[in-house]
Parts: sequence; C-alpha cells; structure tokens
Amino acid sequence: MKVFITRRIPQEGMKILSQAGVCKVSLWDSDEPVPRAELLKGVEGAHGLLCLLSDKIDTEVLDAAGPNLKVISTLSVGFDHMAMDEIKKRGVRVGYTPDVLTDATAELTVALLLATARRLPEGVVEVKNGGWSTWKPLWLCGYGLSGSTVGVIGLGRIGMAIARRLKPFGVKRLLYFGRTAKSYAAEVEGEYVPLDTLVSESDFVVVSCALTPETQGLCNKDFFSKMKNTAVFINTSRGAVVNQEDLYQALSSGQIACAGLDVTTPEPLPTDHPLLTLKNCVVLPHIGSATYSTRGIMAELSANNLLAGLQGTDMPSELKF
Ligand code: NAP
Repeated sequence: MKVFITRRIPQEGMKILSQAGVCKVSLWDSDEPVPRAELLKGVEGAHGLLCLLSDKIDTEVLDAAGPNLKVISTLSVGFDHMAMDEIKKRGVRVGYTPDVLTDATAELTVALLLATARRLPEGVVEVKNGGWSTWKPLWLCGYGLSGSTVGVIGLGRIGMAIARRLKPFGVKRLLYFGRTAKSYAAEVEGEYVPLDTLVSESDFVVVSCALTPETQGLCNKDFFSKMKNTAVFINTSRGAVVNQEDLYQALSSGQIACAGLDVTTPEPLPTDHPLLTLKNCVVLPHIGSATYSTRGIMAELSANNLLAGLQGTDMPSELKF
C-alpha cells in the first residue's frame, strides 16, 4: 500500500512505518510545508495520508487521492484543517493525537501566561539594550495569579490540564465555559458560567477550545469590551478563534492589559503585522506541543494510527465523527 507523508517527522514515527513493512512510504522530505501541487501529486492513489495541521485536507486533496484512500492520520489533536464531512462521506478513517500532547501544551500555556502577565520578553530586551538603569519601584510591573479569577474557555483535556496547573498559584476562583458542564471540574473547584460572566469577571482569560464554526471569531470586539482593563488574554487553541483586528484595538487602546498568543492567523504571522508592534502582546510560533519527547510520541501514535487504518484494525486514537 502507498502512503504519503507531508513533512519530515520525528524518526520514532518513520521507524514504526518502515519496520511494519506494510506500506511504501513517500515523504515530502523537508521541514517546510509541502507546496499544494506537490501534495496533490503525492497523494495520488495513496491508501494512507499522514498530514500536519498546516495541510488543508479538502475535497480537492481527497479527489486527488482517489478511491484507494483508507486513512488520514494527522499529527495533531486539532482537526479543523480537514473537511470532515467530505472525509466521512468517503468512508475514510481518521487518526489524531489527543492526550499525548496535553501536558506539554498546558505547560506552554502556563509559561506564556506568566511571561505575558509578568512582562518577561520586555524585561529580557531591557536587560540587553541598557534600559535596566536601576531597581525601580514602578518599572515593569505586571499581574500575578495569587488571589485572581481565571476563566478557561473550553475545559477539555488541555483546558483541564491548564486549570490543574494554575490552581496551585493561589487562584481564588476558576470559571469555565463550554457547551456542557463537566463533572471533573470539581477537582479544580471549577464554576460553569455563561461566557459573558467569564469574560467580565476573569483576571486571566485562557482560550483552549476547539476551532469550530461556533468558536470562530468568538473573541471579538464585543468580547474584549467586556473584559477588565487589567485582564490578561491568552490563546493557545487556534488563531481563528480570535478576531485579531479587534484584539489589536483592545490592546492598543488599553481596553485589556495584555495578550499572549501561541496561535495566530495566518501562521506564520507576517513580521510587519500590527500585533508585533505592541509591547503588551507576546506572540509565540505555535509551539504548544514542542517538547522532544512529546513530538516523538505524537509521531509514534500517528504512525500506529496510520498502520491500523491501512490494515483495518483498531486505531490507538481514532477520531469518531
Ligand atoms: P478537547 O478535549 O476536545 O477540548 C476541546 C474543548 O473545546 C472542549 O472543552 C469543548 O467543550 C470546547 N468547545 C467545543 N466547542 C465549543 C463551543 N462552541 N464553545 C465553547 N467551547 C467549545 O481538545 P483538547 O485536546 O483539549 O485540545 C483543544 C484544542 O487545543 C485543539 O482543538 C487544538 O486546536 C488546540 N491545541 C493547540 C496546541 C498548540 O500547540 N497551541 C496543541 C494542542 C492542541 P465541550 O466539551 O463543552 O463541548
């Protein structure tokens, strides 16, 4: 069987595929995204496709693959880059990588939150450029978690892992919003509240929901206008959950205090983007799951998902949709 892999992935995954001896692998052998034309060519007649969140898997790609295609294995937990309805219609199975990246992504979210709220990137720059003249009582002050109210939008696997890590910092109230209340929220004394309550009462708003048609653009002008002027906004879900023009306005006008983003639209964010001119906006290059071990495990899992899909057996992590 023929398999196409859209990017260089950690060796752990490649080893599993080569040792299995059930498929002939062709790889876009680069750290850069596969050009669209090469993707369409690469999937031709493929039985399996191993892709990344940056590959748009739409009707055109599925048509190019043709009727052989049995399985798509994505090296991500998010699946907003794939046309799920079309995939379902064609009876193609989908594997993804939940759980194994939860801890790494939650850790990065906490790091980003602290870096943003305590102005770490600004401080590092000041040390290097000579702006550090002396210890000054009013210089580089930020916001602390102790005694604060944290609001988590999307208390799923990652949202819950973030909440568990933030609570010990002395967070007083933990609010969350999603489609349904979660019994497991009791562990962090989470209060299920309407979105408006979360937005207006939180000192830290953390977004960790999936990108769906309902959450697209959820964080917009109206949303930011309800936040406290002293509030910190953090997004490690997907860029499109945020209206970036509205975020820019909120940050530059002092409507909110600061923002930390691990995800943007587009990715990469152009270096001349207005958000990058703001001192109170910390932007990271989508590195939520980027630890060596997590990426290795993600590669293993996506290789095993792919093999199971090719062989018609149970997948370690199959997306049910
Ligand atoms: P998950 O367990 O499925 O959690 C997703 C959460 O989104 C659920 O709590 C869900 O709430 C919520 N949600 C869905 N629709 C919603 C809506 N309309 N309004 C409000 N909340 C809604 O997924 P996960 O493993 O935690 O991953 C979450 C997301 O993180 C992924 O989809 C991905 O986009 C992103 N991610 C980013 C990175 C990174 O590198 N920055 C790494 C991994 C994942 P209900 O259960 O109530 O519906």
